[in-house]
Amino acid sequence: MYEFDYHRATSLDDAAGKLGDADAKLVAGGMTLIPTLKLRLARPSQLIDLGAIPALKGISEDGDAIVIGAMTRHAEVNRSAVVKRAIPALAAMAGMIGDPAVRNRGTIGGSIANNDPAADYPAAVVALNAVVRTNKREIAADNFFTGLFETALGEGEIVTGVRFPKVQAANYQKFKNPASRYAIVGVFVARSAGGVRVAVTGAGACVFRVPEMEAALARSFTVDSIKNIQIPQDGLNSDIHASAEYRSHLVNVMARRAVAACG
Ligand SMILES: Cc1cc2nc3c(=O)[nH]c(=O)nc-3n(C[C@H](O)[C@H](O)[C@H](O)COP(=O)(O)OP(=O)(O)OC[C@H]3O[C@@H](n4cnc5c(N)ncnc54)[C@H](O)[C@@H]3O)c2cc1C
Repeated sequence: MYEFDYHRATSLDDAAGKLGDADAKLVAGGMTLIPTLKLRLARPSQLIDLGAIPALKGISEDGDAIVIGAMTRHAEVNRSAVVKRAIPALAAMAGMIGDPAVRNRGTIGGSIANNDPAADYPAAVVALNAVVRTNKREIAADNFFTGLFETALGEGEIVTGVRFPKVQAANYQKFKNPASRYAIVGVFVARSAGGVRVAVTGAGACVFRVPEMEAALARSFTVDSIKNIQIPQDGLNSDIHASAEYRSHLVNVMARRAVAACG
């Protein structure tokens, strides 16, 4: 490793103030950031640890929604009685992330700020039509994930939490990489009074929705209604794990499984 200053922030203002310094970088659980530093893919002069900021922690019910603080670990979301009752599919999804070590360190804020193309949370955030809260504003899910490892977060902006509206039914199905457990393809389906949302992760550069499936499911929330909807292979990921053709096929299979599991 090379030298850098480490600062354990005690409040959001403290963290935001330090973030103004040149090359400063936030650290949540370090699950992505520390390997990135070891590989010299980033060389921040200062690390600002968000782990001691009480305002970023915890899960609470807020009327017809739940709010999850940015520093909440995946294992906490998985175990939470509040999440299990309000949006069981979200608790189950958190339990599918990585392995126990990753789930005990990794955070929802770090996951969505990083926006790995194969991460699970982006699919949940988009399908559940969540709102990302930052120290500066609120960002609708559809506007938050903007590209490969890119988000709408600006300079000095810190994710403080995510507000998930409760839905009538939801399910997440993931075809995982057996080594990393990241999604080769993951599909999150959510049905609410406002309609149906289908969000796909792992298949492209960034999470995306499938409007044709959403319209078909809004007309008839059945497996049969989407069985013939194949997404185009153009622009899908193709790598040693799966071809674009296979990923396109998997999107349909995972979506049908998710609809079936919604009951
Ligand atoms: C072996 C392994 C397997 C994994 N498997 C999966 C998987 O199956 N599914 C999956 O979805 N993920 C998986 N992950 C990713 C993991 O779940 C973490 O969520 C992810 O690595 C981010 O980690 P972190 O929360 O510790 O954030 P960090 O690594 O600390 O930070 C990541 C990035 O986000 C920024 N950041 C952190 N918090 C904030 C904030 N509040 N506001 C703004 N920016 C912030 C940091 O500056 C950094 O750029 C895996 C990771 C590993 C190492």
